Amino acid sequence: MFIPIAKPIIGDLEKKYVLEVMESGIIAQGPVTRKLEEKFEEACEVKHAIAVSSGTTALIAALLAHDIGPGDEVITTPFSFMATATSIIFTGATPVFIDIEEDTYNIDASLIEAAITEKTKAILPVHLYGHPCDMDAIMDIAEKNNLVVIEDSAQALSARYKNRPAGSFGTGCFSLYATKNITSGEGGMITTNSDSVADKCRLIRNHGMKERNKHEMIGYNFRTSDMCAAIGVAQMEKRNDFQEKRTNNAKYLSENLKGVEIPITRSECVHAWHQYTIRISGDQNDAIEKLKSDEVGAAVFYPKPMYDHPCIQEKLSAEYSLSVAEKACREVLQIPVHPLLNESDLERIVSAVCKLN
Ligand SMILES: *Cc1c(COP(=O)(O)O)cnc(C)c1O
Repeated sequence: MFIPIAKPIIGDLEKKYVLEVMESGIIAQGPVTRKLEEKFEEACEVKHAIAVSSGTTALIAALLAHDIGPGDEVITTPFSFMATATSIIFTGATPVFIDIEEDTYNIDASLIEAAITEKTKAILPVHLYGHPCDMDAIMDIAEKNNLVVIEDSAQALSARYKNRPAGSFGTGCFSLYATKNITSGEGGMITTNSDSVADKCRLIRNHGMKERNKHEMIGYNFRTSDMCAAIGVAQMEKRNDFQEKRTNNAKYLSENLKGVEIPITRSECVHAWHQYTIRISGDQNDAIEKLKSDEVGAAVFYPKPMYDHPCIQEKLSAEYSLSVAEKACREVLQIPVHPLLNESDLERIVSAVCKLN
């Protein structure tokens, strides 16, 4: 049986909660969405969580809530999913890319200060693959330079840095897409301790309205629905169980893989294991084909730095060639770590990966 790289786990609880919503008559954003927000407030240890339609709209709303727009620069990583940069571009601001750390694949905080100009408004770190960024360094630089921090936590629900959840340092943005650690089908979440940022995100989400027909600003429709939120609530109730399985799977892989570079976890961090990332010396596509012939799913997140996509390139104010990120693009490979793996799956993954050399 083929072992997929990711698979949503939908059970009876998800079906029950969705049916309850369908029978309640309130299927758009309503009380179940609020319930999902409360679960994120608790999980991320923050005052406010605001549910939106996706991780991408979470990022856009968070940037807009911090008044980021045309003329502003946002410092971020080139090694992430496209939405990290496109959300910045959608506000009219310009992404400024700096290189990453070789071992965590996250933004290299020691390079941030040199990239700050008078236009810089925010730092947008991505907790890539579920490993937290160096948040002490990032928060210090932000405070010293009066910059906003928006954490792309799309892959980092349950990750912790110095015993604080990812997404609780600056303004957190999560994705509930089908392949993320938990899902609501489609969905996103913004987390913040700021009353005013939360208020603005809620306005942006719903046409600038708190009261019907009273538009305080120009907003969007970034709402989710209670049907999606119902799936998310069930998943949040299983979150710790899912996480324990991911952690145990990662531990097994790290203890048994030979001949490839395995991922690290810094001592001050709890890894969310969204992806289990190895570095290989051979060609990525050959490796994917070989693993596929052993019925093991694998993928490359991400084969190109974001600045190499022509549609992004044309929006940038500089040319980039960041060597650590470009090397990672050529060498990383993701193998399954999701909670559905059983012992025999794990053994098969290890033996297929060990055969790559
Ligand atoms: C998934 C993801 C997003 C976008 O989330 P969607 O819910 O798909 O819009 C943004 N950033 C990162 C790092 C992601 O992995």
